[in-house]
Amino acid sequence: MAEQKRDYYEVLGVDKNADEASIKKAYRTLAKKYHPDMNPGDKEAEVKFKEASEAYAILSDPEKKRQYDQFGHAAFENGGGGYGAGGFDFNGGDFGDIFGDIFGDFFGGGARSSRRPNNGPTKGANIRASVRITFEEAVFGVDKEIELTLKDSCTTCHGTGAKPGTSPETCPKCGGKGQVVFTQQSFFGTVRNVQTCPDCGGTGKIVKEKCQDCHGTGYIANRKKIQVSIPAGIDNGQSVRIRDKGEPGSNGGPRGDLLVEVIVQRHPIFQRQEYNIFSTVPVSFPIAAMGGEIVIDTVDGRVIYDVKPGTQTDTRVRLKGKGVPTLRNKEVRGDHYVTLVVQVPDKISHEAKELLKQYDALTGDSLNAAKNVTAAKESEDSKDTKDKKKKGFWKN
Ligand SMILES: [Zn+2]
Ligand SMILES: [Zn+2]
Repeated sequence: MAEQKRDYYEVLGVDKNADEASIKKAYRTLAKKYHPDMNPGDKEAEVKFKEASEAYAILSDPEKKRQYDQFGHAAFENGGGGYGAGGFDFNGGDFGDIFGDIFGDFFGGGARSSRRPNNGPTKGANIRASVRITFEEAVFGVDKEIELTLKDSCTTCHGTGAKPGTSPETCPKCGGKGQVVFTQQSFFGTVRNVQTCPDCGGTGKIVKEKCQDCHGTGYIANRKKIQVSIPAGIDNGQSVRIRDKGEPGSNGGPRGDLLVEVIVQRHPIFQRQEYNIFSTVPVSFPIAAMGGEIVIDTVDGRVIYDVKPGTQTDTRVRLKGKGVPTLRNKEVRGDHYVTLVVQVPDKISHEAKELLKQYDALTGDSLNAAKNVTAAKESEDSKDTKDKKKKGFWKN
C-alpha cells in the first residue's frame, strides 16, 4: 500500500493491552468528535472518522485483533488475511454492527440518523411556553389559561400545501424516497452517504402550484387559548406537559407536545425547599421567657402556637403537615419549619426601663457585673497607693 498507515492502537490512542471496554470507549470518543454529522464538509474530520472506524472494526473483533497483533496491517492487505480484497464494506456487514452498537445510544436511537427515511409519519416538534404563578398556587395547584400560536393543518389544501385541484407530485430527484444516496471512493473502500433530498426537503413530494391560503406550507397559524392544569406541589422551573399541543406532525404523524414551564413568584415570608416551607417568626422576650401563645402564618392560614417557657432565639419548631403537598399524592405534605427569633425592643419607655432594671437586679445583676469586676481590680491595685482616688462604685 502506498499510504503510510498508522498503527490501529495509536489511532484509537489506547495501549496494546487495552481491554474491550477501553477500546470501545476510545472509539466512541473519537467517533463522536469526528462523525460527519457533527462536522459537515470537513474532509479532515471525515478521514479521521474513517481511520478510527477502521481501527475499531479490527480491534473490537477478537479474531481480527489477534491477526493484527501478529501480522500488523499486512494481515489485511491483499492476499494477507483475505480481508483487504474487497476493501471495507462500509455499507453494511462490519460497519452496520458497529453503528448499531456505538451510535445507537448517543444519537438517540437513530432519530436523526441519515439512514432512516424521513418521509414516513413523524411526530411534530415540542413547543415550550411558560406561566407565572404565586407561591400559594404552586402549593395548592391552579388552572391557568395561556395563549399561544399553534399551527394547524390548512383546511384549504388539507395540509398538502398544493393549490386545490392540484396535488403534490413525486419528487423526481429522490423518486419520492425523501433521501438521496451518493457513493464516494476512499482509500479503504466505497462509502455510501445518505442525505435528505435537497429538492423536497425529505418529504418525497414537490408542490408545483402552491395553496394560496398557506403559501404552500400546509399549515395555518392560529392564536389559541390553552388550559393548563398545574398540579399541587409543583416547584419553580418544573414543566407541565400537554400532549398533542405542539407542532403538527408530518406525513400523518402525531402532533408534538406543549411543555409549559412554571415560574413561581417569590413569597414575602415563605421559602420553599423540596416539600418543606420555612419562615421566621418574631417572639417577644416575655413569651420566650415565660411561654405563651403566638400567631404563625402558614399556607393554610393562621395557626396558634404555644411557645415553651425558656425558648432561646433561633429555636426551630416544626408544624407537621403544613408544608407543600407532594406531586404524587397531595394528601402527603411536607412540614413547615418556623424559626423563632426573640425580639429585643429598640425603644423602651422610662417606666419599662425601671422595671427592667428591677428585673435585672433579681436575675443576676448583669447591669453591674462588669463594674463590679473593675472595682475589685482597682481596690486590689490601690492597696499600696493610699491616696488613690476612688469613685463611688459602691452604690449598692
Ligand atoms: Zn393550504
Ligand atoms: Zn426529493
